[in-house]
Amino acid sequence: MKRIIAPKGTKDIFLPEIEKWQYIEEKIRGYFPRFLYKEIRTPIFEYSELFQRGIGTETEVVQKEMYTFKDKANRDLTLRPENTASVVRAAIENDLFNRVYPLRFFYIGPMFRYDKPQKGRFRQFHQFGVEVFGDESAQVDAEVIYSSYDFLKEINIKDIQLHLNSVGCENCRPKFLRDLEAEAEKKKNDLCIDCQRKIHTNPLRIFDCKNLKCIEISNDFPKIIDYLCEECGSHFEDVKSTLSIFKVKFDINSRLVRGLDYYTKTAFEISSNQLGAQDALLGGGRYNNLVKELGGADISGMGFAAGIERIILQLDDAKSKKGKMIFIAYQSLPLMNKAIQLAKSLWDKGYRAYVDYNSKNLKKQLKKANKIGIDYTFILGEDEIVTKSISIKNMKDYEQITIKQEELDKWLKNNI
Ligand code: AMP
Repeated sequence: MKRIIAPKGTKDIFLPEIEKWQYIEEKIRGYFPRFLYKEIRTPIFEYSELFQRGIGTETEVVQKEMYTFKDKANRDLTLRPENTASVVRAAIENDLFNRVYPLRFFYIGPMFRYDKPQKGRFRQFHQFGVEVFGDESAQVDAEVIYSSYDFLKEINIKDIQLHLNSVGCENCRPKFLRDLEAEAEKKKNDLCIDCQRKIHTNPLRIFDCKNLKCIEISNDFPKIIDYLCEECGSHFEDVKSTLSIFKVKFDINSRLVRGLDYYTKTAFEISSNQLGAQDALLGGGRYNNLVKELGGADISGMGFAAGIERIILQLDDAKSKKGKMIFIAYQSLPLMNKAIQLAKSLWDKGYRAYVDYNSKNLKKQLKKANKIGIDYTFILGEDEIVTKSISIKNMKDYEQITIKQEELDKWLKNNI
């Protein structure tokens, strides 16, 4: 019979990689509450309109990448391509703006985009991110950026660069867009078909185009940074000076306009030198109009989203490894209950231990321990029971020692 395989752009996650996922998820849950973020979980699918209105109809995501479908009652639904619009929808719907303080959320979960799969790019991928509402200060922008940067450092991701820009606001952006449109119009014939269309629908999105020729041409287009109004300009200066208090280094990248329409003022991305073509680890920025546009009050937002698959590509193997594994072997069947008691005492203390209930002899148990990749085997024989001791075999070099049972806690502390 023909085998059924996982859909293109998705993957199964299991040992040994799953340990990295568990490690990073635990780290996220341990790290972000220090800034008073609380976890939020929203549905994996939403009404399509949420993303069309939230992300922008002219974006690559909405134009080409959404998994949109009709359910049996003909509702127009979409698997979420990102989570900010959903968090905003959830906050409005559940009146969280009046019930939670400070308004700070983090999330972890799968997102879906009909992207071209390659290294670091999937159709089902996972993001974690944060959203802060109702704080318009430049300092909070810097704090959010700092937390994303520091988190990557905390989990030992090396070679990261922070790119910063401001995309202005509804006061300063129109003039920039007019000039951009005029400039793009002059070069129209050299741009790809997609960019030609964007000139009059949403010229900012030309900067998202991955076509090398379009990148080269648009490098000479006007830069938003030269058009910032007084308010956006001083906001941007304050973001930069606060980042230096946090001791975070950055470069200014005027092409950085982010792929989603809702950004205002601060936009940022962190990339890695070690990732090749798909080098963006995370990105985010300020979105002062999204809540209003989705039917809520006039409340500002600031946040980022990080790609877990890409972070995992760079995660140190050893760091994410769980505690060492112990195999408890018994010399003869009547001693199996002693092995069970010892295993229980280890599990109670949170150690990883395994008893094989089916092996007839010690040799077979040691063979299994090897197959599992066990670090230490505890051996219980008649002698050990009589002398109230445990023999411990290091499965890497096969050296064996015998310790008294009362010394076990100390040994565990030093070796596991
Ligand atoms: P975005 O929501 O587009 O700003 O993306 C934020 C982060 O999510 C990126 O920096 C990537 O790390 C990650 N990401 C976006 N799209 C994909 C994808 N198709 N596959 C894997 N990771 C992705």
